[in-house]
Order: sequence, then structure tokens, then C-alpha cells
Amino acid sequence: MQIKRLRIAGFKSFVDPADLVIAPGLTGVVGPNGCGKSNLLEALRWTMGENSAKSLRGAGMEDVIFAGTATRPPRDFAEVSILLDGADGEEREVVRRIERGAGSAYRIDGRDVRAKDVALLFADAATGAHSPALVSQNRIGAVIAAKPTERRAMLEEAAGIAGLHVRRRDAEARLRATEANLARLDELIADQDVRAAALRRQARQAERYRTLSEQIRVAEARMIFARWREAVAAADAARADATAAEARVTAAGEAEQAAAAAQHAAVAALADARGAALAAREAASEAGHR
Ligand code: ATP
Repeated sequence: MQIKRLRIAGFKSFVDPADLVIAPGLTGVVGPNGCGKSNLLEALRWTMGENSAKSLRGAGMEDVIFAGTATRPPRDFAEVSILLDGADGEEREVVRRIERGAGSAYRIDGRDVRAKDVALLFADAATGAHSPALVSQNRIGAVIAAKPTERRAMLEEAAGIAGLHVRRRDAEARLRATEANLARLDELIADQDVRAAALRRQARQAERYRTLSEQIRVAEARMIFARWREAVAAADAARADATAAEARVTAAGEAEQAAAAAQHAAVAALADARGAALAAREAASEAGHR
């Protein structure tokens, strides 16, 4: 990997956009104390994914944003881009940007990526924010007095296997996450089994309810049919009774008419008999006088 250019804007003392071109060979940066030489190295480490504000000489990560001077107002964001030739010979641009209150975001070739992707890109090229190849001020002694584990990290980086460590950690994290997911799935399956048993019970009850409802429906239909037949028979019987009653009414009417005629005849006969009785009494009285 060959870093070709560092572009800085709003980062620490670099308020205006500035390009540091790193040509093949040795590149030196010279300047008076406090002019921002260390800030350049920190910009490089920050873009590679440095997460410790302390190691960038700040209290919080937003301290890397230009804080303002007596003559210039503070900035709201800082952006650093590294232009490099990748391991595959392709040119790449890695950008990190931080905004006040919004945190950091990374882009590789204009695409939004995770911090992990940037770390992996540099780890594959045997470098990174914590690479021993980046020696900050006052840290030279620390490299010489490095512990065996730290030396091992340097040797691994020199051997180009640091990227594999990152990948292994990544794979292990994914494996752990998958195991956690599997455990969760087991719990979910057990949960679902319990629910399935309850549902099977409910299904059996529903089936029984359906069968019983069907039987009740058939029984009710039979009962209604029987009642209907009884009603039809009762109606037939009532109709026959009515016909018989009507015949009896007709006969009684005729008898009444005959009785009325007989009564008329009897009244007439009675009047005739009374007349005859009167005539007989008069004749008797006349006969008595005589
Ligand atoms: P030396 O040669 O003494 O090591 P240097 O050239 O490495 O110095 P740096 O330490 O890189 O200088 O830069 C320090 C300067 O950066 C200081 O002037 C400091 O005020 C300025 N600086 C750091 N952080 C910010 C910030 N957030 N906003 C504005 N200026 C900042």
C-alpha cells in the first residue's frame, strides 16, 4: 500500500483545506514548534480508525474539529481523506468525517462503510491506526521497550498477517452472534412447540365443536320436520272437524226451520181450537139459557 495524498479540512489546526502530497521516496515535514506536524500524523491515524481521543491528545473525539482562534470561528466538522494505491494496485480514497453532535462516518471511494471495513483495509496492508510503524512524538522509547506481546504484534504486522487477526476476531464475533442466535432460536422453537401444543388442543376442541354443531343442526332440523308433520296432521284433523261441524250446523239449521214451520202450524191450530172452544162455550151458555 502506498499513501499518495493526505487531504485535511477542519481537522485540529488545519482549518482550511490542505493537501499533503506524499511522493515516492522520503517525505519530510518541517516547521516551527506548534505548527501542526504531529497533527498530520494524527490525521492519518484518525482516518485509519483511531477511536481513542486521548491518544489524539483530546478529551473527546470532537476535540479534533478546529476549535477556533482569536481571529477565526470554530468549525462544525472535520474531514480527512487518504488517497492510496491499494494492495491490488487500484487507487482508493478513504474518508473519515466528524460532525459536532453527529459522530463519525467513513467512506471508501464515496461509499458509506463501517469503521471495521476501514480497519480491515489497512490491516490487510499491514498498517492501521495502532500500527507500530506510526510512531508518535515521545513514543520512540515505547517501541524500543515494547513487551513481548507488543513485539509480536509488530512482527505479525511485518509478516502481513494482522489482517488475518482482524478477520479472525470478526469471524469469532460473528460465530458468537450466530451461537447466540441459535440459542435464541432454540428458545423460540421451544416456545413455538408450547404454542403449537396449545393450538392443537384448540384445534381439537374446534373440531369437536364443529361436529357437535353439525349434529345439533341435524337434530334441530329433524325436530322441526317432526313438528311440521304433526302440525300438518293437526291441520288436516281440524279441517275434517270443521267440515263435520259445518254439516252438523246445516242439519241443525234445517231442523230449526222444520220446528219453526211446525210451531206456525201449531199456533194456527191453537187459534182454530180456541175459536172452536169459544164457539162451544157460547153455544153451551146459549143452551143453558134456553
Ligand atoms: P512540536 O514541533 O512542538 O511537536 P507540532 O508541529 O507537532 O509541534 P502539533 O502538536 O501538531 O504541532 O500542533 C499543535 C497545534 O495545533 C497547537 O497550536 C494547537 O493549538 C493546535 N490545535 C490542536 N487542536 C486544535 C483544535 N481542535 N483547534 C485548533 N487548533 C488546534
